[in-house]
Amino acid sequence: MVSPLHSNGRAQLREDKAVTSIGELAPKPDLRPELLLKLSGKLQTTLELSQLLEIFFREIQQAVLVDGLSYNHAGNNILQSQGKTSPHSVSYRLQTQQDYMGDLTFHRSTRFREHELANLEGLLTTLVYPMRNALRYHEALAAAFRDPLTGAGNRVALDKTLSRELELAKRHGQQLSVLMLDLDYFKQVNDQHGHSTGDKVLKDAADCICSCIRQTDMCFRYGGEEFLVMLSSADQSGALRIAERIRMSIAALIFNAPKGELQISASIGCATLRGDDDRDSLVQRADKALYQAKHGGRNRVISDVDMAFSELEQAAE
Ligand code: GH3
Ligand code: MG
Ligand code: MG
Repeated sequence: MVSPLHSNGRAQLREDKAVTSIGELAPKPDLRPELLLKLSGKLQTTLELSQLLEIFFREIQQAVLVDGLSYNHAGNNILQSQGKTSPHSVSYRLQTQQDYMGDLTFHRSTRFREHELANLEGLLTTLVYPMRNALRYHEALAAAFRDPLTGAGNRVALDKTLSRELELAKRHGQQLSVLMLDLDYFKQVNDQHGHSTGDKVLKDAADCICSCIRQTDMCFRYGGEEFLVMLSSADQSGALRIAERIRMSIAALIFNAPKGELQISASIGCATLRGDDDRDSLVQRADKALYQAKHGGRNRVISDVDMAFSELEQAAE
């Protein structure tokens, strides 16, 4: 099903009307069956969302000239565009009876005419099922890189992402920091409140970390109750600021466990990329700083620079 959402390129009275089959709203689409057949065939050649939209954008030009196309699926955090945005636009919602499949907006410098909108609606019906397949593929891929309990990235995702970001940061001379975070005395949470409360605490701690970082930053579950946070473009002071914000937010969480209220804390080690770093050396420094934070009494943030200073001081003594 294709539902018009809104348009600034045509009469407002069509707003929010649902089109459940081609031609329910006049005028009827005027599309050659061969074109629809060819388009359907091409859309079935890929499961990649970006490729699917690229094919659709390219092929529909034979029927309706469009400057740009943008696609948005808020639930799946997907935003993609083809071509360019222009002053006139019309948006449609793609959905079957079971599935919502995102919103698609067509852009153009001139107004869309009624017969062109009818054609767009006709063309869109060929996209519905290929889009559903592409979304399922996207979700399956995303699940393969996600920790099922906390929703944070898993180790596979971490290895891929950190290597890539490190490479990019070095090439473009940008900053990159990582935080290694471990929940304090977590074994006691399980022992005193049970494993399922422990699971809930882990999930909420991961959500709490995610709420403290930017969209470009990422949180991964490193192991049991240990998380690695990757902070793109963050220098040492920026990373320390975020680490402290995370530490305080976790300490402020209150859990209503069956045996009463419960609070937790986290220790955080922070390391910032150096010229001679590789993935392992960067993570190792954050891990060492985390160890120092635990050793220093827990519920605190220690950076690799603090650690270097204290090592120098010890050497001088
Ligand atoms: P420290 O402050 O030194 O980090 O102490 P800790 O108790 O947090 O550390 P320890 O390594 O002794 O215990 C970690 C605990 O985390 C033990 C393990 O059962 C628990 N844990 C690991 N993964 C999970 C999980 O997925 N769910 C739950 N509920 N517990 C988990
Ligand atoms: Mg711990
Ligand atoms: Mg641990």
